[in-house]
Amino acid sequence: MKLLQSKKAVRQQVLKWRKASETIGLVPTMGYFHQGHLSLMDECRRHAHRVMVSIFVNPTQFSPNEDLESYPRDIERDLELAREHGVDAVFLPDDNEMYDPDHCTWVIVDNLTKGLCGRSRPGHFRGVATVVAKLFNLIQPDAAVFGQKDFQQLQVIRRMVADLDFAVKIIGCPIVREADGLAMSSRNAYLSKEERRSAVCLFQALCLASRLVKEDGATSCAQVKAALKERIESFPFTRIDYIFTGDPENLMPLEEVKRPLLVALAVFVGSTRLIDNIII
Ligand code: AMP
Repeated sequence: MKLLQSKKAVRQQVLKWRKASETIGLVPTMGYFHQGHLSLMDECRRHAHRVMVSIFVNPTQFSPNEDLESYPRDIERDLELAREHGVDAVFLPDDNEMYDPDHCTWVIVDNLTKGLCGRSRPGHFRGVATVVAKLFNLIQPDAAVFGQKDFQQLQVIRRMVADLDFAVKIIGCPIVREADGLAMSSRNAYLSKEERRSAVCLFQALCLASRLVKEDGATSCAQVKAALKERIESFPFTRIDYIFTGDPENLMPLEEVKRPLLVALAVFVGSTRLIDNIII
């Protein structure tokens, strides 16, 4: 497995693969791998001859009050896991390699970024779209793999690719969960033992939403959301950021239940902000 730390090294590697007529798949990550990341690498292998994983904690997608500094990192372990999963190259740039000091060009995906995490994290998707566009330009992958855990991010990337004519196939992968249903996330490492017990409230709320719609025939999104709110707030240490019910394609909120229905949550458990979603 190659470790590439400069854009120049990436370009050279990509050129070698292209000359051998090999296709390239990309898995963009911020590292601190868990089973969710590894499932994306395995999926990527099914779509391309070569798999490149990027590990970059992208500063431009964090607000000043967020966890950029404390974001968990363990590069040695990540490289070992990537190697075990047959990754061909890891791109591990530092901030200066990725961003020119005079950087001032941004990719803004409108509409889709107005609600959900876009509302609570202003500037977040501008940072995400910009760094992913940079990775796509640099690596020119044939396929790129993203998790449905960050469902809004996946839709934003799909929109950007369509709108800016990137020649890359975007592949969405299912959410990988812990035994009790908690969606795997690098940020789960922040949770204390007691908070970890409460963190299951997101998955339980999503299961409740699914039951209300599928089994009880709920028709009002407001009623579904009220039930979810009550369930989440019955757990200690929780503070709801948002409960969203809407159209999974355009991310517009719905008042009447219409399927497929996206139910998406962001909940603080202690000071850790967790997200999860389901499509019913
Ligand atoms: P991150 O390192 O958190 O930026 O995530 C990198 C990629 O892994 C993104 O496409 C995420 O959506 C995806 N991902 C994160 N957690 C999970 C999970 N539990 N299941 C599936 N994909 C995930």
